[in-house]
Amino acid sequence: MNLIEKIENITDKCISCGFCESVCPTLGANEYNSVFGARGRVILADFALKHPGNNMELGDSFYSCLDCYACVNVCPAGVNAGVVSELMKEYIVSGASGNKNPIAELIKDSIIKYENPLGLKKEAAEWAYGIEFNKSDTVIITGHMYQMMPYTRAINKVRKYIDEAVVRGIASAIKNHIPLIKLSRHFYDAGLREKMNRDLKNIVSMLKSSGVEFDYLGSDEPYPGMFLYDLGYMEEFKAYALKVYNLLKERGIKKIITVDPHTHDLLMNVYPEYIPEFGIEVVYYTDLLNLKFKKFNGNITIQEPCHMVLHNNNFRAVDILNSIADVRMADRNGKLNMCCGGPDELLFPESAKKISVQRYAELKEKSDNVITICPLCYNNLAYDNKVEDFSEFVIDMISK
Ligand code: SF4
Ligand code: SF4
Repeated sequence: MNLIEKIENITDKCISCGFCESVCPTLGANEYNSVFGARGRVILADFALKHPGNNMELGDSFYSCLDCYACVNVCPAGVNAGVVSELMKEYIVSGASGNKNPIAELIKDSIIKYENPLGLKKEAAEWAYGIEFNKSDTVIITGHMYQMMPYTRAINKVRKYIDEAVVRGIASAIKNHIPLIKLSRHFYDAGLREKMNRDLKNIVSMLKSSGVEFDYLGSDEPYPGMFLYDLGYMEEFKAYALKVYNLLKERGIKKIITVDPHTHDLLMNVYPEYIPEFGIEVVYYTDLLNLKFKKFNGNITIQEPCHMVLHNNNFRAVDILNSIADVRMADRNGKLNMCCGGPDELLFPESAKKISVQRYAELKEKSDNVITICPLCYNNLAYDNKVEDFSEFVIDMISK
């Protein structure tokens, strides 16, 4: 099946009932402009494929999709507008229709050249200076996620004062002088950087206390290529993922411990699809914890990561939290979970912010103690609010 057939195979099933619009976070965040909602994306994709060469501006509709997959869980026809968006980004990137997004293009070039979306591969290893790891065929892969959040936050603080057309112009200019992307190392939120580095250290400490032996590749750790995949650069992703796999194979890696849901989903489900011989076991760090916890004197609420609960990946993190505290879930949880808006943070920060405000209010209604299990959720929900990462909440609850 070619790309167009794959898209039509999904869009043809849509009966236009609109149920998906009731759960799509990006619709309300964009003044109910229907092309920023799940049904609108399906209709727009169908129209664009039936009218090729129409030179429509398609990009923002599909690039702003969070890939949360909330829509498929309420669709009576089993349509996944998230997958339609993923495939349509691939269609746009192929040059078939619409304009490529200059920020996406810049990120793509930076990953290919520097193995990090912001050219920060070396900086991504700094959190681990001074930590002793075991020589092991099990390795922790951070995916550079905790480490990149302080930089995206600082960039967005400046970006909100600049017109979007100017931002895209700057991205195009940097793309033509790609070493300039490395200047981003000077723009970070120092407090957040310290906190994110501490979270990673806490994760390492809890794994060690649980008797897990593992290594870390330091500044050789590759960014796994998530943005190439998420932004539709499939040819580039295939080549990049193979490069990452070859490095892991050369190092004799048999098992990967992931610490964020996006990297986990990518390595566990997407890599084997593109590299059939992948064969490396992937496990989420919370599934390896073997610790005794005290009881928390109070209640908490949890922002579940979409890439776990809506993408059908299981993990023990929520069970662990249930054993520690009185958990009061938001009304939208599990298969009805609402995304924090984080995946829109780099390309559509305003939309990400509006979604996070709405989601935080839903969580806060249940408890003052909001716990996240994903660095992207933390970063997006904690802009102006008190939120704790799973690792920082749980480390204080370990029985000595
Ligand atoms: S819920 Fe499914 S069938 Fe209904 S409009 Fe959305 S994608 Fe189409
Ligand atoms: S995946 Fe999420 S953001 Fe994308 S269309 Fe579905 S509900 Fe909306």
